[in-house]
Amino acid sequence: MTNRRNFLRNASLLAAGGLLAGKTNSVSAAAMPGTPGMSKSASSKVIGLQIYSLGQELHDDVPGGLKKIKAMGYTTLELAGYNDGKIGKTPMAEFKRMCDDVGLLIPSTHVNPPAREYTSSNKTQIMDFWKKAADDHAKIGVKYLIQPGQPVTRSTEEMAYVGEIFNGAGEIAKAAGLAFGYHNHAGEFAWVQPGGTEAQTDRRRFGRDAKGLEVIYDAMLRHTDPSLVFFELDVYWAVMGQVDPVEYMRKYNNRIRVLHIKDRAVLGQSGMMNFEMIFNTAYYAIGSFDYFVELEGIRNMTQFEGVKGCADYLIKAPFVR
Ligand code: MG
Repeated sequence: MTNRRNFLRNASLLAAGGLLAGKTNSVSAAAMPGTPGMSKSASSKVIGLQIYSLGQELHDDVPGGLKKIKAMGYTTLELAGYNDGKIGKTPMAEFKRMCDDVGLLIPSTHVNPPAREYTSSNKTQIMDFWKKAADDHAKIGVKYLIQPGQPVTRSTEEMAYVGEIFNGAGEIAKAAGLAFGYHNHAGEFAWVQPGGTEAQTDRRRFGRDAKGLEVIYDAMLRHTDPSLVFFELDVYWAVMGQVDPVEYMRKYNNRIRVLHIKDRAVLGQSGMMNFEMIFNTAYYAIGSFDYFVELEGIRNMTQFEGVKGCADYLIKAPFVR
């Protein structure tokens, strides 16, 4: 059935796959006020949550937890914990139905392939895994299939092979109607060199005359096809990797389509993240984008309390549209 929501979802998918030049299409648009399931009392902002933020607390009571998430003002979810057709212990179709019941959309998911080191002998295994993961997520309408874990990358040559595997995953995802993306931590901002045996966080360790040094993240971008692989920038881990997420968004505004909005713990409390600058730059440089809150590192509160603190911060922030 073609309705507005499906149309926008499909348009968004094309945009994520680099097939549309326009920047006005995003899943964000699919959850604007007036869309079925959007509570009138909730914020009109589209706020996403990476469910990893809730850990076991969500899996203990999925329907109750989803209701709480929605009541806090979140509108979209990014899944974690995919395992053989289940999210945690809940079959995916059931998880989707529970989200439908409370009016939460699931545009994205985090999935890691079965191996960290990519070789010619495990390539088939990795691709078979992506095929199954893509098909499973397509069935519940997920658009973004995102790898959150860093593969082994010790040299420039290894980077090229990682790019090849990512492109392969991108082709498989695209065939299933999804877009393949990569999510960073801090390790991707280390440096590699041709023939290298280890990545280095300090480029000076390669020596004064080292040639061909490249930041892993930049190499990932260079070795992947923009029509097959997009990037979900985790702004906190970029800072922890000693780079400026704002600079990266400006430089790679056509590749970074999704953000992880994360702080040391609850958003806005550490003072180390300039979220105003991050959001302003994202609206200006990327245009329309999806983002997901991610929470780690809290103390003396439950995960749900921390996740609510993050929603409150974003709802109140004048720079979040
Ligand atoms: Mg993250």
